[in-house]
Amino acid sequence: MKSVIVLLGPPGSGKGTQGEKLSEELGYTRLSTGDMLREAVRNGTELGKKAKEYMDSGALVPNDLIIGLMKEKIAQAKGGVILDGFPRTVEQADALAEQLDVDLALNLDVADEELITRLTKRRSCPQCNAVYHLVYNPPKSEGVCDKCGSALYQRDDDKEETVTNRLKVYRENTMPLIAYYEKKGTLVTIPGVGSIDEIYSKVEKAVQ
Ligand code: AMP
Repeated sequence: MKSVIVLLGPPGSGKGTQGEKLSEELGYTRLSTGDMLREAVRNGTELGKKAKEYMDSGALVPNDLIIGLMKEKIAQAKGGVILDGFPRTVEQADALAEQLDVDLALNLDVADEELITRLTKRRSCPQCNAVYHLVYNPPKSEGVCDKCGSALYQRDDDKEETVTNRLKVYRENTMPLIAYYEKKGTLVTIPGVGSIDEIYSKVEKAVQ
């Protein structure tokens, strides 16, 4: 099994959902920079205070804030790791390459129109970070997380105005990583459409 996996793909492509499933079923440690940053904002830490403004507008948080944080989390992780939302720039990918070899860069490919409906109809759990979709993957009880019972919310950056900017930021800063990992021979692209289980069966094969 591949031991270091990077999840690529635009916001809303299913990185969190598929990463969570891989970690539940195959025991990977999933490290999500987005989840870490949201927690820092909620807890009002120094990092959270610095990151909030960037996140609210859909911009990327500066590399120096993210790289140090991730280096530490990766060093602490045991067993296989899944990096969800990192790297998002070539500078971050170079910093990661100094620390370890990426075995697989999994690129989830989804068209823009689909991403917009997915993101604007997404609801998230502030407690355990589970994600739902109001139509495709609703919680069993409206507004309540199936996994931990917390009240679900809509992320500020999942509102339509910000979503458009996040997609633009993705194209400009993160899309070049597809060519970056292709050159290294570790890229696998999977169409991120269909049911969660259909996509997962392809993801699981790529990981073997
Ligand atoms: P996500 O939950 O992955 O969509 O991330 C939410 C927001 O956190 C992004 O829009 C960025 O503002 C910030 N963020 C997450 N990961 C990174 C990263 N690797 N580099 C810079 N900013 C990030």
